[in-house]
Amino acid sequence: MRVRTPWPTALAAGLLAAAVLGAAGTTARAAGDEGTRTVEYFPDSRGAGRHTEAPTSPPGRISREQQAPAVAPDATPVTPLQRTGPSDGRLDLVVIGDGYTADQQGDFHQDAQAKLDAIFAIEPYKSYQGLFNFWLVDAASNQSGVSGDPTKDVVRDTAVSSYFFCSDTERLLCVDEKKVDTYAQQAPGSDIVFVISNSSKYGGAGYSGLTSTAGHTGIATMSSDNDRSYLIGAHELGHSIGLLADEYQYDGYGTYPDSEPAEPNTTKQTADGMRSMQTKWYRWLGQNDPAGGTVGAYEGAGYYEYGIYRPTQNSIMRALDTDAFNLPGREAMIAGFYRNADLVTAAGTLRVDLAPLPKGLADVQVRWYVDGAEVVGAAGERALKAASLNLRKGTHTVTAKAVDRTTALRDPAARQAASNSVTWTVSG
Ligand SMILES: [Zn+2]
Repeated sequence: MRVRTPWPTALAAGLLAAAVLGAAGTTARAAGDEGTRTVEYFPDSRGAGRHTEAPTSPPGRISREQQAPAVAPDATPVTPLQRTGPSDGRLDLVVIGDGYTADQQGDFHQDAQAKLDAIFAIEPYKSYQGLFNFWLVDAASNQSGVSGDPTKDVVRDTAVSSYFFCSDTERLLCVDEKKVDTYAQQAPGSDIVFVISNSSKYGGAGYSGLTSTAGHTGIATMSSDNDRSYLIGAHELGHSIGLLADEYQYDGYGTYPDSEPAEPNTTKQTADGMRSMQTKWYRWLGQNDPAGGTVGAYEGAGYYEYGIYRPTQNSIMRALDTDAFNLPGREAMIAGFYRNADLVTAAGTLRVDLAPLPKGLADVQVRWYVDGAEVVGAAGERALKAASLNLRKGTHTVTAKAVDRTTALRDPAARQAASNSVTWTVSG
């Protein structure tokens, strides 16, 4: 990607009294301990998330039984499941299998494909899949399955030490962050990491605000053989790519105490307030929403019950009983795709490659300009011949500009960002 965007760190201040996310990302716990981090998990496969403290590396009862892997991390095969362009112009999604032995990597590939298929069937992932590269990292585990499955006392020796019952929370599936980083470094780019853990037990986790050598700032874990776990990955990308807030609340958490939140899908304003101040999702108010109902201002979001509003009654950022982003969330996701990926890249003189975005939400067109004036009739072409331009003597600037005219973006700044261009200097 071109610009790194942090996962949201503006979690409720009270919730994070014991831990500070951000550059450092961890708080020391005790001598010899790596520290802890605030992670998100989903206790119920159709419900809202929770946050808790989790260690950045597994506890002694697990790490004591882990040996060097049969295949060294730096000799681990990486498969480009989807490569649509150069890493600096794409979102690189790295998928690491855990709890698969060297002989089970075929299983891992099938499980990874199934998870990605499920996530990328959801809009707007579906329409913008062409802005992603997918890398499969075949981490070889010494044992099959993961720790904490089915019960807390079970320990398995796996490549990145996945374990349920992390921080005594059954559905919280933690990993060793350093080991994940080592494997992710094998891929050509790493913006976001999914760890798919070989288990049929429901669980997962969202790690955000990371710093890593591989480059990713977030990790989402999910169990392989549970048919609801992909929603954890789909939700966590909402934070990492869309910079979206959680739209759920905690019972008894009371009234939101802070200033206007930065995230695009929560606000202190009512619908009337947004309309009169022309702020947040005012352009979408009253629209029928793919997540159900109409866009408005629904009280309760960002962990608080009162004084803060979300766009729709439900959405994937509120509870995992739906896979739908609401319209403001969808817009934020598409804006995030374009912060991190390029529509068009140079493929030679007066020749471009266009990210493969099938017509759906996306509606992309290439237009050509000479010295700022559009070349009539060249719209949609991937290449031009200089001779066809009938250039006068002297040097000229030729620009190919790709624009996404999607109606899913209403914010003019986001629409502006949903384009990029390549320029050549040619002689007439
Ligand atoms: Zn969340």
